[in-house]
Amino acid sequence: MFDLAVIGSGPGGYVAAVRAAQLGAKVAVVEARDLGGTCLNRGCIPTKAMVKSAEAYKTIVNGEGYGVRVKEYQLDFPSVIQRKQEVVNRLVTGVEKLFSSNGITCYRGKASIPKPGMVEVSGPDAARLETRFTLIATGSGHALPPVPEAAIRRAITSDEALCLPKPPESMLVIGGGVLGVEFACIYAAFGTKIDIIKRSPLVLPPVDEELSKRIMPLLARQGIKVNAGIFIKDIQVSGDGAKRVIANTKEGKEVTFEAEEVLIAMGRVPDFGGLDLAALGIEHDSKGIKVDNRMRTSLAGVYAIGDVVGKYYLAPVASREGIIAVEDMFSTGSDMDYKVVPQCVFSSPEAASVGFTERAARDAGYSVKVSRFPFSANGKAVALGEAEGMVKVVADGETGLLLGMHILGPHATEIIHEAAIAIVLGGTAEAIATMIHAHPTLPEAIMEACHGIMGHPIHLAKVR
Ligand code: FAD
Repeated sequence: MFDLAVIGSGPGGYVAAVRAAQLGAKVAVVEARDLGGTCLNRGCIPTKAMVKSAEAYKTIVNGEGYGVRVKEYQLDFPSVIQRKQEVVNRLVTGVEKLFSSNGITCYRGKASIPKPGMVEVSGPDAARLETRFTLIATGSGHALPPVPEAAIRRAITSDEALCLPKPPESMLVIGGGVLGVEFACIYAAFGTKIDIIKRSPLVLPPVDEELSKRIMPLLARQGIKVNAGIFIKDIQVSGDGAKRVIANTKEGKEVTFEAEEVLIAMGRVPDFGGLDLAALGIEHDSKGIKVDNRMRTSLAGVYAIGDVVGKYYLAPVASREGIIAVEDMFSTGSDMDYKVVPQCVFSSPEAASVGFTERAARDAGYSVKVSRFPFSANGKAVALGEAEGMVKVVADGETGLLLGMHILGPHATEIIHEAAIAIVLGGTAEAIATMIHAHPTLPEAIMEACHGIMGHPIHLAKVR
């Protein structure tokens, strides 16, 4: 008899399993595919390994700009893919070690829940597990466009984009969200000509509108063309093997795009893992499994976390929800809090957001004060040769309370955490502006933007 059976070993499931074991529970994890789930094997980690290779290549291509002339260089793409796989394998081994060191039993196979309190495993480690609690952490799958299945098969998804034999000459990316823009930047760095097609006018929906507009010309400079207001109808293959996407503009005019490869990157949808949720009476819809603020489903003893509950589709959110769920099972527990969720895009340049956007803050009734500071006025960014973008601070105009921060620029995904901590602690723009920041550093741009909330940044010429 187990205390907990976890279905799925992604960043939701494996983190929950470790935390439950720390709390003294006897834990089983069932995994149908790869330990570490989407994040480690087909998501966060392999993409960032490829982002690093893309950056390394770009640095060499642009070496002369840094005073480094490289006579001969070439892209060894199979080695890029091999390095990515080595990174993945290393981290998957880390999860195996966490399981063994915490006494967690791992079953390889597909899980089902024949009745409450029982998890059945079919596959290599076939078994029937009796369990006090069950945690559904089955993750998500690819969101697909509304076209015939044969058309879908002519395109690739992010899974295949992570192991292509060579960068295509041209790629049509369907979707201008986080996934689409990340892959567009990776392949553009390797020399692929990219067209993004998307329905809505702006890229990167979680990011503040102003930054989303500002990244468009920066994408264009990398050879990434964003075609907005395009509704895909079909994907065909032409005589010479090129892929052809037939679409409508929002005015109803038919348009055609051709490319060597078509990448579907429209985001994610919950994957119920083949579990018969209806038979069990677990409330759900196409957006995910319904849970309360402790991640409990409508069936007593069964919890759900991560992408399958369809809230954020982010690994750290899945992990936090996992901890909330098992602490509710085996400890006093607390409610899930989504107030501070840094949303990061590993594009070039990077984009990161936390808290309210300017529009959301106004809609919520705040008297909003906004300040911006460009990286072109930040010494470290200029020294790095990455002076594009800016920091935008959204604060309460009356109290100076920090409501949100939005960064487009170098290492945005790292430095956003200064704002995240400030918001968690209920900090003000003044607290950041008056804190001594190391020099020369990128967070100085955050400090300067916060100065702007109080008056005027120091390192910005006054407009007379
Ligand atoms: P998953 O990681 O999807 O794990 C679910 C696991 O459950 C899978 O291993 C699956 O095999 C298993 N499973 C399903 N059904 C069953 C069953 N019946 N029996 C047994 N096992 C089953 N997020 C970020 O925060 N940062 C990023 O940079 C980032 N980049 C991404 C890049 C890409 C290309 C993609 C696709 C996603 C990215 N994400 C990123 C999203 C992130 O990967 C997910 O939010 C995260 O993996 C969700 O974790 P999870 O535990 O809910 O599910």
